[in-house]
Amino acid sequence: MIKQAVILAGGKGTRLGNLTKKIPKPMIKIGGTPILEHQIRLLEKYNINNITILTGYKSEIIENYVKSKKYKANVSCFKSKINIGTADRVKLIENKLKNDFLLLYGDVMLDMNFDKLINFHEQKKSSCTLVLHSNDHPQDSDLVEINEECQVTAFHSKPHKSGFYFHNMVNAGVYILSPKILKQIKSQENIELDFGKNIFPKIFKKEKIYGYNTPEYIKDMGTLERLKKVNKDYKSGKINRFNLKNKRKAIFLDRDGVINYDSDNLSNIDDFKILPRTIEAIKKINNSEYLAILVTNQPMLAKGFITFAQLDEIHKKMETLLGNEGAKLDGIYFCPHHPAKEFPGVPELRIECECRKPKPGMIMQAKKDFNIGLKNSWIIGDAERDIETGKNAKIKTILVKRNQEYFDKCAIKTKRANNLLLAVNKISK
Ligand SMILES: [Zn+2]
Repeated sequence: MIKQAVILAGGKGTRLGNLTKKIPKPMIKIGGTPILEHQIRLLEKYNINNITILTGYKSEIIENYVKSKKYKANVSCFKSKINIGTADRVKLIENKLKNDFLLLYGDVMLDMNFDKLINFHEQKKSSCTLVLHSNDHPQDSDLVEINEECQVTAFHSKPHKSGFYFHNMVNAGVYILSPKILKQIKSQENIELDFGKNIFPKIFKKEKIYGYNTPEYIKDMGTLERLKKVNKDYKSGKINRFNLKNKRKAIFLDRDGVINYDSDNLSNIDDFKILPRTIEAIKKINNSEYLAILVTNQPMLAKGFITFAQLDEIHKKMETLLGNEGAKLDGIYFCPHHPAKEFPGVPELRIECECRKPKPGMIMQAKKDFNIGLKNSWIIGDAERDIETGKNAKIKTILVKRNQEYFDKCAIKTKRANNLLLAVNKISK
């Protein structure tokens, strides 16, 4: 059980100009209430009863605010100097942190199901869990790679190496840390140590660090533009609605022929090209209440024509091309199986599985992972198989045009559209 949280509230927030001349960033109001207060209330909701706020810049404003409030949790402030790294700031209270604790940045507006995050951390026996998400500006974000067990395998700090593709898996700046991570912090004069930049990349090979991917609302208040957006989202109720406790609706997308040109048996990464209007369509989904989730059959893996590593590269290319234009997928599911035994391929993938479309396995897995309500969800695909998948999962369906002949021949009863954007336009908000 995690009962303790630390909030980093000492930085100066210079990018917000006049707004932070008089108050520290965590005191900026969203919907009339300081971000810091939103965070404290959220932590209290999940029975985190010991909260330490690490202050620096305009410390007295935060101290007075906290003193003026009555909290269920025990909330205290600890002041240190302004120009000091975030990791150094936490290191200063190491003696107060005997058990695993949650760490939040005080300029981040969020609403997430901490129970689910804490469960993940405990099940993995993780010594450090990073909350990850895909965002609409991965090219200037700190990126992380994880394996199938969700263990972190690489860090890519910005700016990224050019000529490479990356997954849109962004460090959201919410952590659960065990005290042993703090032992790895060696503070020095004149160097400001940050967890994401200086600590995790150094220790992930010896300590078990896990990534927890979530589509919940987590946004930092770095710029005036983002602040405006967050206020708008708060007013609309979106921030709370996206908590995984609440059901979300989703648009499931087939890959080949819907997102990218369908070249038969796509195995060469150079053949992966995004269809026109796709990015616009996915951005439209991203700005709506729907999750965008890819569900694709990749029998090429079973047939031995492509390796998992090659498919991963193709998906990195897809995510990079989308991300460069501000579009993102919230989840990617693929079926590597194929039942036919006539080619040898990869024997263990030659099975009758539950995930190969038209079976609804991938949709059911996403439903569980993201708490999706199927009743108001959709699938968009270019093949009869996709529409059958939708019917099997009891969600609504749209067939997009692969070519005129197929479109005319396919007799299945469904809504239809000429491309992904027109399909998305048919779905009401
Ligand atoms: Zn499968």
